[in-house]
Amino acid sequence: MGRNIGPQCRLCRSQGYKLYLKGDRCKGPKCPVTRKKGAPGKGPRSRTKKISDYGVQLHEKQKLKRMYGMLEGQFRLFFGKAVRHKGITGENLIQMLERRLDNIVYRLHLAPSRKAARQLVLHGHISINGRRASVPSQLVRENDEIAVREPSTKLTAIKESLKEYSRSGIVAWLEIDPDRMVGKVRAIPRRSEITDLADIKEQLIVELYSK
Ligand code: SF4
Repeated sequence: MGRNIGPQCRLCRSQGYKLYLKGDRCKGPKCPVTRKKGAPGKGPRSRTKKISDYGVQLHEKQKLKRMYGMLEGQFRLFFGKAVRHKGITGENLIQMLERRLDNIVYRLHLAPSRKAARQLVLHGHISINGRRASVPSQLVRENDEIAVREPSTKLTAIKESLKEYSRSGIVAWLEIDPDRMVGKVRAIPRRSEITDLADIKEQLIVELYSK
């Protein structure tokens, strides 16, 4: 499947929002969004343009889609599934995005970014309930056990990434044993528990796709 391979920080700058695409750099002072660099491109005109309602909705969708490293087709598929689920469509969508295996690997601090997590999965370093998992978009379920497969527990990149666990802990709906490199999904998160997406307005995405 294709993916976005352009400059990552440019995506954040065009959204004016931190998408956390680059691991440690995103948390440091070098992040261009933290340094309040404006949108990429020349001249201030594009930065002061008035945005239409459609533009605002599109902007919100792009934010979420890029944050999870997805292309339009796959994002729409996820949206379609969210519509068919019981409950509030926007919340279903965010819940499903959070349940993606690459996102879980990232949230467990086994990789510094969702992109790196995706690579770990694609290269066969991750298992779900003892079975090799190689599809980053696979949705995990409550009580699933996500682990680094035995030969890969020696990888320095994973050990380095796990240091973040001692610095910042882990979201309440996941748990991890960092020594064994085994994590578990304690529960599927409610929308209100996904605090780093608190300012995402998923309803705008629902409105966009409902046109
Ligand atoms: Fe770059 Fe990360 Fe900052 Fe985005 S959040 S601009 S990817 S450093």
